[in-house]
Amino acid sequence: MRIIIEDVLTVTMNDSKDIGIYTIVIDEGKISLLAREPYKVKKIKDDIVIGGKDRIALPGFINGHIHSDITLARGLGDGLTLYEQDNDSFVSRKQWFNRELDREARYYSKLLQYVEAVKGGTAFICDVPFWHHDDDLVEPFKEIGVMGAVVLDFRRNFLTGEVIDKKEYLSSARYIKEHGYIPIVEGPAEEHYEQELLNLIKTWAEELDTLIQMHLAETTWRIDITQKKYGKTPVRYLHDVGFLNSRVIGSHGVYIDREELGILKKTGARIINCPVAEMKISDGIAPVSEFISNNIPLGIGTDGALWNDSADMFAEMKSLMLLQRVSKGAASCDAYSCLHAATRGGARVFGLEKELGSIEPGKRACITLIDYMKPHIVPIYHGSQSNVLQNIVSCARASDVSTVIIDGNIIVEDGALRTINEQKLIRKCQEMGSTKFKNMS
Ligand SMILES: [Zn+2]
Repeated sequence: MRIIIEDVLTVTMNDSKDIGIYTIVIDEGKISLLAREPYKVKKIKDDIVIGGKDRIALPGFINGHIHSDITLARGLGDGLTLYEQDNDSFVSRKQWFNRELDREARYYSKLLQYVEAVKGGTAFICDVPFWHHDDDLVEPFKEIGVMGAVVLDFRRNFLTGEVIDKKEYLSSARYIKEHGYIPIVEGPAEEHYEQELLNLIKTWAEELDTLIQMHLAETTWRIDITQKKYGKTPVRYLHDVGFLNSRVIGSHGVYIDREELGILKKTGARIINCPVAEMKISDGIAPVSEFISNNIPLGIGTDGALWNDSADMFAEMKSLMLLQRVSKGAASCDAYSCLHAATRGGARVFGLEKELGSIEPGKRACITLIDYMKPHIVPIYHGSQSNVLQNIVSCARASDVSTVIIDGNIIVEDGALRTINEQKLIRKCQEMGSTKFKNMS
């Protein structure tokens, strides 16, 4: 069965940066045709036809860093830095709500976060859970119908630091892979840097032939830890011990100096930046325009509840742009670069550039349609002058997404989720969250 999107203003994100009115044909989960107007497709029985009038088609977003299992704790970390959350606050004393966020609450947290993300146009999520249960690592992805990767913690319990047995770890990773998702090995944050642990992580990633994602140079607090312990910044330390290579994805990457940019470039390491979280918990401003000018693979993530606390990629794109501009001038980061980081850049970070990130024949069909006939977006025009990219990044919102196609399946249609009962989920999460947290002392 084919899906045909007719005459839609399409931002292809291809090499030539083509934007125009196209008809897009999806067949067997892939984009089989992308034809400029006035091309007309000969329709056959069973074709699903979506009219493209008043819509903009974008590649589905790639959200490169989410901690979905704590979504029900939304709002609770507000006003605290990461150091305070981790060391001396309501959050640390409650052990990151370890008791409240039981297995059921974590499962519903994931569903809630994924529904929010998908309804806002996200097709691929890289999730970094704090707690592991094999079934729960892939089932929520399947239930919602989103593509994804799971960053598997090397610790059985992040609160005690106990490292998982290798056999058990690799078996969980293979379980994720068998179900069609990407297992990624979690690397330690700065407070846990030890040569032996880093060697272990590296070996596991090599054995699984996969990537490593680790929080990297996010805060001055963590930079100080490696400076005191090793006399080096995190990036220099990781490089000197031979850990940094093209398998490594650094989350955040806020404190990276000029020499370290050279190290990232030379080693092929990648970055997922989370601008909203980095503003909300006062991390700092990452050298995003330098990542871009140095061609360092760059994607965007929304981080999780306690730090953002939402999963809106439009807000991330706009924040990415504004944070660079407020610190480096109005020309330091353009709308195209922000949309690139949210789509093609993210695909590159996860080694999926041949499959995702742009609307081109042969790629897996992940397409987001925005309804632009809204007071906060119009007018949209594309001719010798175009405001399409600017208005997507500066004006559009997650709630403007009308249709989301993921891997050839229509997951959101006319703004409504097709895979699960959204209202039931919202009601359940509201009840569960308010019961657990309302009177918590
Ligand atoms: Zn994180």
